[in-house]
Amino acid sequence: MSEPLATALPNPEAVKADGLGCHSGKDALLAAAKAAGKSETLDRYAKDYPKGPHDQPQSMCPAFGSLRVGLRMRRTATVLSGSACCVYGLTFTSHFYGARRTVGYVPFNSETLVTGKLFEDIRDAVHALADPAQYDAIVVTNLCVPTASGVPLQLLPREINGVRIIGIDVPGFGVPTHAEAKDVLAGAMLRYARGEAEAGPVQAPRGGRGEKPTVTLVGEVFPADPVGIGMLLEPLGLAAGPVVPTREWRDLYAALDGAVVAAIHPFYTASIREFEAAGRPIVGSAPVGHDGTADWLRAIGRAAGVAAETIDAAQNRFLPMVRAALARMPVQGRITLSGYEGSELLVARLLVESGADVRYVGTACPKTPWSAPDLAWLEARGVHVQYRASLEQDLAAMAEFEPDLAIGTTPVVQAAKARKIPALYFTNLISARPLMGPAGAGSLATVVNAAIGNKPRFAAMEAFFEGVGSGHAAGVWETVPKDRPEFREQYARKVAKAAKAANVEEPI
Ligand code: SF4
Repeated sequence: MSEPLATALPNPEAVKADGLGCHSGKDALLAAAKAAGKSETLDRYAKDYPKGPHDQPQSMCPAFGSLRVGLRMRRTATVLSGSACCVYGLTFTSHFYGARRTVGYVPFNSETLVTGKLFEDIRDAVHALADPAQYDAIVVTNLCVPTASGVPLQLLPREINGVRIIGIDVPGFGVPTHAEAKDVLAGAMLRYARGEAEAGPVQAPRGGRGEKPTVTLVGEVFPADPVGIGMLLEPLGLAAGPVVPTREWRDLYAALDGAVVAAIHPFYTASIREFEAAGRPIVGSAPVGHDGTADWLRAIGRAAGVAAETIDAAQNRFLPMVRAALARMPVQGRITLSGYEGSELLVARLLVESGADVRYVGTACPKTPWSAPDLAWLEARGVHVQYRASLEQDLAAMAEFEPDLAIGTTPVVQAAKARKIPALYFTNLISARPLMGPAGAGSLATVVNAAIGNKPRFAAMEAFFEGVGSGHAAGVWETVPKDRPEFREQYARKVAKAAKAANVEEPI
């Protein structure tokens, strides 16, 4: 049976206006969440994931990032608390990406939210799920509306039958990108695991502890990259440790136990805070290309207390291999590049060293100290780097530089193709390749050169579709439709007026 609630609940006003969520009512939701006791969490997010120069990059629902991290972990159950439409979209996307795992959902309506029953329902669901034979951890995520309403996941039991309960708020109005939402969950798990490790003995990694000190790798890197990084570390007397976000709870302890932490993807601010609290040195950038590999080996070696001559020997062993691989697979052409994975600057470095004329790099992620070496390196070579890049900035760069290839997100690729510019999806085609060390050098050239070589096909396609119109007139018509921008404006005014009227009747 449920115990009575120990605290005054939520802010039910947060759900009164229509259509609140990622497309409207953001300020109202933010204010509601703060009024409902979520100020501390939201202030921390604002500090960890700074916005600007504009409000927020155009990106998918941020909660997808943390959802995916949880779904990839062994023996971890995932429960969402949010509007049904959000949960539908998130589960659809997670299964589209091959989750093959159940996503739990605790539905709500105005009444269960108003009375606090939603929190009790979540607590009951967590109790029913907490089977230690099946799970190490249960992750419960508040989406926008429950966060704005103040559903107090922090009041869930810390553990039930030995199963850890992790409650996180991942609202679209507080976490700017799905990339940073991965950090929200990874950071929460590391914090929990750090507390366990400080309290007493914890589980060893599945394969047992190795002899050598390890380097923890932060960021969802291509699966072959940790192997390549392990080879680079071997002459330093080090080994590649777990990758964070981890695939298993016990790996969190091994991650915290690393001699050095490599912030390969630079936006894991909350996770880095946990590593720093555990006393681990952090090294930014990554072993990409010749210069990146040289600098990274030196920085890692120094952080781990490796002798200078040993570091020199490792550099002498690998750098000629990297140089040769880059020379074997040159890239020729002007490129603009943008994405939301966090590895955009690393990819740009590799392309520049491969011979490409890279003019612009846009990343949805914020500027942090861990990408500072990459920023300096790229800027020294005349590349414009845009943190928190908007779609408009990515498109403007493409229009200005008229590249031979645009690497970017879906809308950038669409816009490029409409302009007869060959384009590649960053997420599917670029970040799904090894980038590190000798194996990474040259790995992009095949796909990039093939795409650049496709330019004549775009011209042929345009000729083929000549006369089918575009925009409002796209299609084959007997009478081409007339554009009516004034109708759109009139409709927009009507919607704004209705929204205003709703807010006046039901203030938030
Ligand atoms: S949870 Fe995601 S989809 Fe739902 S309103 Fe928030 S940002 Fe939008």
